Amino acid sequence: MSHVFPRHTKATLPTATGGDGCYLIDSDGKRYLDCGDAAVSCLGHSDQAVIAAVQEQVAKIAFAHSGFMTSEPAEQLADLLIQHAPGDLDRVYFVSGGSEATESAIKLARQYYLEIGQPERRHVIARKQSYHGNTLGALSAGGNEWRRAQFAPLLVEMSHIAPCYEYTGRADDESSFDYGQRVANELETEILRVGPEAVMAFMSEPVVGATLGAVTAVEGYYKRIREICDQYGVLLILDEVMCGMGRTGHLFACDHDGIAPDILCIAKGLGAGYQPIGAMLCTDKIYSAIETGSGFFQHGHTYLGHPVATAAALAVVQELIGRDLPARAQTMGEKLQSALEAAFGQHAHVGDIRGRGLFRGIEIVEDRDSKKPFDPALGIAGKLKKAAFEEGLICYPMAGTRDGRHGDHVLLAPPFIIEETQIDELVVKLASAMVKVL
Ligand code: PLP
Repeated sequence: MSHVFPRHTKATLPTATGGDGCYLIDSDGKRYLDCGDAAVSCLGHSDQAVIAAVQEQVAKIAFAHSGFMTSEPAEQLADLLIQHAPGDLDRVYFVSGGSEATESAIKLARQYYLEIGQPERRHVIARKQSYHGNTLGALSAGGNEWRRAQFAPLLVEMSHIAPCYEYTGRADDESSFDYGQRVANELETEILRVGPEAVMAFMSEPVVGATLGAVTAVEGYYKRIREICDQYGVLLILDEVMCGMGRTGHLFACDHDGIAPDILCIAKGLGAGYQPIGAMLCTDKIYSAIETGSGFFQHGHTYLGHPVATAAALAVVQELIGRDLPARAQTMGEKLQSALEAAFGQHAHVGDIRGRGLFRGIEIVEDRDSKKPFDPALGIAGKLKKAAFEEGLICYPMAGTRDGRHGDHVLLAPPFIIEETQIDELVVKLASAMVKVL
């Protein structure tokens, strides 16, 4: 009997014993094409440069508490990230994962306003159908009702406006641009409802991952969001935990939208699975408020800036930039989109195939014309995940929430080193899984 407390207590899981490029291998030798273990593996499972960096660092020094010392890899990684970061982002605060990054961002926004003498600013506006992590602050910001439901009494009050989800949200007689402006303007309405003096931040995912399935914003949406934030002095926090680090074709997903946030959260692809690490990047304006004020960010975790984790991430980012892998994600992503459209574009239960770079989503519906989702009781997403896994394909089917209604999608996020033959393999395996379930 296992003494590990798994997430799914009724499932018996195979044991992962090896990795080979885009594949995970279990103890029976079965190979699984890894196309989205939550969008972590951007370099595959056997990147020699990252493995060497981890080994070298752990042999030098495994841990030095950041309250006493900094480390060479943490300094170098921060420099490299800032060199490539959008806008005025200037400082990097390291954490151990995505939820810690978004949680830290919320607390940083609050402390910033305290430092500059606006203590009444404490309200966060986020979006419905979003996910920002499972710790209580991050979960409060998230708009996934299923994830929030049982912890609702513990959550902090935040507001949630509509996401930019053109597939279900745009009216027939509305242009994409007008739709984007309409939903972006919901932010202004909500700021005015709460009172501009009380709002500290707006948080969103530039490309919505787990909750909607690779949903990009329409042209102009984020420019309008940025304008509204600037007008009311609200900090813009972008959560690129899943969509960042090259996955969409640029190192940072918001580069596609032509805007920069005040605070940016990254994780997953930053460590590429070789070490648990995340980061929160902020502007000099925010950093200096603390530096010239209290001089102390009242937040932190033991493993902040862990030398081995930052060494791994430094090697990951060097690989991403040195090998121009975001551009490869862009090219291979277009090939993946075409292959998915060719295989499933006419499928009776495929409503939409979308995304950016190697971050693609397939929306599964009962009826294509009405876009009606399947009855949640059927558990389509769960069945697809299981069937694909049996075929030797790891993808990320999720039951989303469409404004209270249920919706199923499959999220595909393969490593950037994926080859065309493996895209074919992905499509064949997914097609077999779909035949079994739909
Ligand atoms: N934010 C987004 C957009 C995510 O997709 C996730 C995880 O899926 C998180 C935050 C939380 O990250 P973690 O699971 O590393 O805590």
